[in-house]
Amino acid sequence: MLRKQGVYAIIVIIALFMALHLAFAPEAHEPRTTGTTMLGGIAFLLMTTSMILSTRARFLEDLFGGLDRMYQVHKVTGTMSLIFVLIHFFGVPKELPAGVDEIANALVPSAPMGMIALIVLVLSLAITLNRKISYSRWRPMHKLMGLVYFLVIGHFMTAPAIFYERFSTSGILIFVAAIIGAGSFLYSVFGMNRKTALPYKLAAINAHERAKELVLAPMGAKMSFTPGQFAFVEVAGKDWNEPHPFTISSAPDEDNLRFTIKVLGDWTRKVREELEAGGEVKVRGPYGRFDMSKGGNKQIWLAGGIGITPFLSTIRNMKDDDERDIHLVYATREEKEALFLDELLDHAKRLKGLKIIPLFSDEGNFARVDIMEEKLPDALPGYDYFLCGPKAMTGPISKDLKAKGVGRKQIHMEAFEFR
Ligand SMILES: Cc1cc2nc3c(=O)[nH]c(=O)nc-3n(C[C@H](O)[C@H](O)[C@H](O)COP(=O)(O)OP(=O)(O)OC[C@H]3O[C@@H](n4cnc5c(N)ncnc54)[C@H](O)[C@@H]3O)c2cc1C
Repeated sequence: MLRKQGVYAIIVIIALFMALHLAFAPEAHEPRTTGTTMLGGIAFLLMTTSMILSTRARFLEDLFGGLDRMYQVHKVTGTMSLIFVLIHFFGVPKELPAGVDEIANALVPSAPMGMIALIVLVLSLAITLNRKISYSRWRPMHKLMGLVYFLVIGHFMTAPAIFYERFSTSGILIFVAAIIGAGSFLYSVFGMNRKTALPYKLAAINAHERAKELVLAPMGAKMSFTPGQFAFVEVAGKDWNEPHPFTISSAPDEDNLRFTIKVLGDWTRKVREELEAGGEVKVRGPYGRFDMSKGGNKQIWLAGGIGITPFLSTIRNMKDDDERDIHLVYATREEKEALFLDELLDHAKRLKGLKIIPLFSDEGNFARVDIMEEKLPDALPGYDYFLCGPKAMTGPISKDLKAKGVGRKQIHMEAFEFR
C-alpha cells in the first residue's frame, strides 16, 4: 500500500517553491513570465523526484511503502512533469522584452536546449509508457531521461534573467534540486549495483515445472532480510545484462539464499536454458514491504502462480507454535504448476493454524472472490489479505474484496512488475 508521507513530502517541496517564487518574484518580471516560469520550475522538481526515486535508496521505501510504490510514483511524477513542461512551453512569452540584448541572447543556447529537451522528453515518455517494448530494450532507452534532465538544467541556467532569476530565492531551491537530481541520476546509472551488491556463489540449480530454483551460497557477508522481501539478482558475465528482481524464497535463518524463477521473457528463459552452477552472482537488497507479520491474527494469503514465493519464505520461517489463523489460497492453471505444493502441505501439518486451499483453473476453480468465500469459514471482512500474483488477477480480486466490505487497509499487494 502506498504510504502518504512520501507524497506529502513532494507536495510540501512544490508548495514551498511556489510560495518562494511568487513572494520574491523579481520586479522586472511580468505576471505571465512569473507564472509560466513557476510551472517550468514545478516540472523540474517533478523530474528531480523521479531521479531521486530511481536511486532505489532504501530509506525512501519507508516514506512510500516499498520499492514497487516508489516506481509507481516515479512514473506519475515523470508523466506529470510533461504536462507542466507543455504548459510552460506554450505559455512563456516568446518575444524578448525591451532592454534585452538580442545578440547576447542569441549566443546563449537556452531556448534551443529547452526545445530539444521537450522533444526528447516526449519521445522518451512515449517509449517509457509503451509496454510492448521488452524490458532489456526499454531500459537503455529510458536512460534518455538523463539527457532531458541535463538539457533542462542547461535551459534554465542560461535563460535570460528577464525570464528566470537563477539566484532568486526560488532559483536557489531549483539549483539545489538540480545538484541532488543530477547526482541521483549519475549514481543510479553508474554506481548503484556495483557498490552495494553482495557476492554469492551459484551453489546449485534445481529444476521445477517451468521454473528453476537458484541456490546461492554467500561468498562474504550474508544478506539479512524479512520474509516477503525481494532482491536484485545479477549474474556475472557480459551476456547477462541488467539485474532482475526476485523474491527471496528461502527463510532468513538458512545458510543459503534461494530464488525460484519462472520463465517470463528473454532473461528468465536464459536462466532456464543456459545458467550453470558454479559461477558468481551479485545480489542487491533486500527491498519491499510485503510483510505478513504486519497483518492481524486472521489472514488470507492469495498466491497466483509464481506469486507463491513470498509466502514460501514466510511459511519456511514460521515457528511450530505460530498461533495465527492463515488460509493460503494457491491458484494455478493446473496441479503440476503449483510449485512446492507438497512441501506446503507438509508445513500445514506442523502449523496448526495454516490451511492450504489449492485452486486449479483447469478443474473450474478460479481465483475469484465468490469461490474463495465458499471455502472460507468466516465472512470476508474478518481477515487481512496479502495478494501476490499477476495484476490481472490481484486487481479484480482487490476490487471485489472492497465491494464485499473489506477495508482498503486490510488489503496488501505485491506487484511482480515495476513498469
Ligand atoms: C518485486 C518483484 C518480485 C518478483 N519476484 C519474482 C519471483 O520470485 N519469481 C519470478 O519468477 N519472478 C519474479 N518477479 C518477476 C521477474 O522479475 C520477471 O519475471 C523477470 O525480471 C522477467 O525478465 P525477462 O527478461 O525474462 O522478461 P521480460 O519480458 O523482459 O520482462 C517481463 C516484465 O518483467 C519486468 N522486468 C523485466 N526485467 C526487469 C528488471 N531488470 N527489473 C525490473 N523489472 C523487470 C518488467 O515489468 C517486464 O515488463 C518479480 C518481480 C518483481 C518486481
